[in-house]
Amino acid sequence: MLNSSQVWQAVLGELELTISKPNFTTWFKGSCLVACDGDRATVCVPNTFTKSWLEQKYHQHILRALQNVTQTHVKQIVYRVEVVRPDAVPMHGGGEVIRAGGTATAAAGSLATVATREVPPVVNEHGLNQKYTFDTFVVGKASELAHAACQAVAQAVCEAKPKPYNPLFIYGGVGLGKTHLMQAIGHQVVAGLSGAKIRYVTCEQFMHDFVSTVRRGEAKEFHDRYRTVDLLLIDDIQFISGREGTQEAFFHTFNHLHQHDKQVILTSDRPPKAIQALEQRLQSRFEWGMIADIQNPDLETRIAILETKCREREFPLSHEVIRYLASNIQSNVRELEGALNKFHAHVQFHKVPAVVEVARQIITQLSTLPRKTAITPKQLIQTVSTFFDIAIVDIIGKSRKKELVNPRQIVMYLMREEIKSSYPAIGNEIGGRDHTTAMHAYDKISREIENNEKMRQDVQLIRQRLYV
Ligand code: ADP
Ligand code: MG
Repeated sequence: MLNSSQVWQAVLGELELTISKPNFTTWFKGSCLVACDGDRATVCVPNTFTKSWLEQKYHQHILRALQNVTQTHVKQIVYRVEVVRPDAVPMHGGGEVIRAGGTATAAAGSLATVATREVPPVVNEHGLNQKYTFDTFVVGKASELAHAACQAVAQAVCEAKPKPYNPLFIYGGVGLGKTHLMQAIGHQVVAGLSGAKIRYVTCEQFMHDFVSTVRRGEAKEFHDRYRTVDLLLIDDIQFISGREGTQEAFFHTFNHLHQHDKQVILTSDRPPKAIQALEQRLQSRFEWGMIADIQNPDLETRIAILETKCREREFPLSHEVIRYLASNIQSNVRELEGALNKFHAHVQFHKVPAVVEVARQIITQLSTLPRKTAITPKQLIQTVSTFFDIAIVDIIGKSRKKELVNPRQIVMYLMREEIKSSYPAIGNEIGGRDHTTAMHAYDKISREIENNEKMRQDVQLIRQRLYV
């Protein structure tokens, strides 16, 4: 039986495929489903701003996904502002789980469901997700080196030996297991070195910590927090690009830890050389230890991963179905997991057998979801030029005026995000520019989306226009 947390996971899995990652993270982080009762569902969100965005912009998406997942005719969604802390698990109504009214073909409104509040992914006091251990990581050829390096490092830290690779720099595309592997080291050190001090942060958290402690004049607190650890894990370090202050802070933190033979581990979506606007001295430090990449898993590994995930969730599947799913989803492990979630939800709600035919339906549904690739660079440029009311020739042109540079960079950012164009292709499309210009634009807009409300909204509105 799926509980509301699993239903919401499946809904998010579906939404994630149609909404770009920054948007998805911005608008759906901290959300949860607290009730799904007949034709009405209640979704909790962390603040009013998110509430109004979901109501105005994503309501139809959410409704459709919820109907798909539950196969009911949920008609109304109430968005409620309420922060649900992962460590607080207040149970409402005795904590019953959501359930499909006993009949698989539940007619509209007869889905007898009761609200409950589930714990979102369990994160321990070190900020580590309990699921991300070496035990649950399936090693394939594409991740062999990174995995071995992580194990060697974990062992050295546990045994307080000299560190073989410091820092360890892991890079690879999205959804390939970088965060998982990095946190696996954390777990092993927690278990193997008593009293170990571990700090896992995303690069954004690190930046935020730095900026806010400095602003409050508490630089010492920042030092204490980051320089007294045995193991420092910073996820997605590429976002440090262009942040001079944070780069400086990281430089000194790193030097301090390194001198004291404390381990630093970094992940990134690209190798150090490809990180734009990164100080030379940092790039060279990133390369001091070992650089290990993770590539896309091959079919054999994808099969093994699915088998493991099925075992974890006690959802036995025939080899045939597993092979079918693994053959049809090649992009990355996150999407593979998403498809399995969807399939699991479907099988449970409909009480249908877990056979290839059903898997085929799911894959078809997933592939007919409005994908980001449906638009062309031309349409994109057109949409942005209309949005800012400037001419297309000016967007592609050479002028460095701010009112043109900004839209131009937004076009480049969206080509990357929505069309998945390569940087050279983007540069080409936008007036034959160099690929580094495209990379710079992408990084700049990504950062502004994080920090600048207006930019976030503009990009959001342009996206809306692209897909209507
Ligand atoms: P990244 O940080 O590279 O974007 P994540 O570490 O977040 O990717 O992985 C995405 C999802 O895929 C996670 O749920 C993770 O557990 C799972 N995953 C990725 N690689 C593997 C693997 N080799 N074995 C098992 N699960 C994996
Ligand atoms: Mg990650």
